Amino acid sequence: MARLQLVTWPNPILENPAEAVTEFNQDLKKLADDMFETMYAAPGVGLAGVQVGIARRLFVMDCSGGKDPSSRYFMANPQIIVQEGKQDGEEGCLSIPGIYSKVQRSLRVIARGHDINGKEYEIEGIELEGRCLLHETDHCDGILYVNRISPLKRELVQRKIRKLQRAGEWPA
Ligand SMILES: [Zn+2]
Repeated sequence: MARLQLVTWPNPILENPAEAVTEFNQDLKKLADDMFETMYAAPGVGLAGVQVGIARRLFVMDCSGGKDPSSRYFMANPQIIVQEGKQDGEEGCLSIPGIYSKVQRSLRVIARGHDINGKEYEIEGIELEGRCLLHETDHCDGILYVNRISPLKRELVQRKIRKLQRAGEWPA
């Protein structure tokens, strides 16, 4: 396994819809393994293909941080098929490191997509897992959480990033 380079905002790959995954082969398995390693090392609870420079619709997630194997998911070609309720909470992104903002999301979410072998399945997520499913599926559509907050809050996030960039503390 290898740790992959994280892509940070404003790299344009993060703001364009990714292509469908059509081949479920050894290369995809290797990519998924490397993405899990990269996500755990960061540490983070979700990581989409575009965040490691792969413009394909796929993500890995584990809201247990590696403690519970049943929380470990790979999904390709995700689609959100159910959204219920509301939750408010701080959200971050490995592509916008160290900055968090309150984002309203649905409380209960079901995503449908393909597993590592190309078999269709669904993930049901509540609270953090629901938030994560929405956040990672958004990445596949070229949407970042900063596109889901008010213009005022977005300006605040951008100001923080510019400050970090000027200080040379923002990853290229
Ligand atoms: Zn993210």
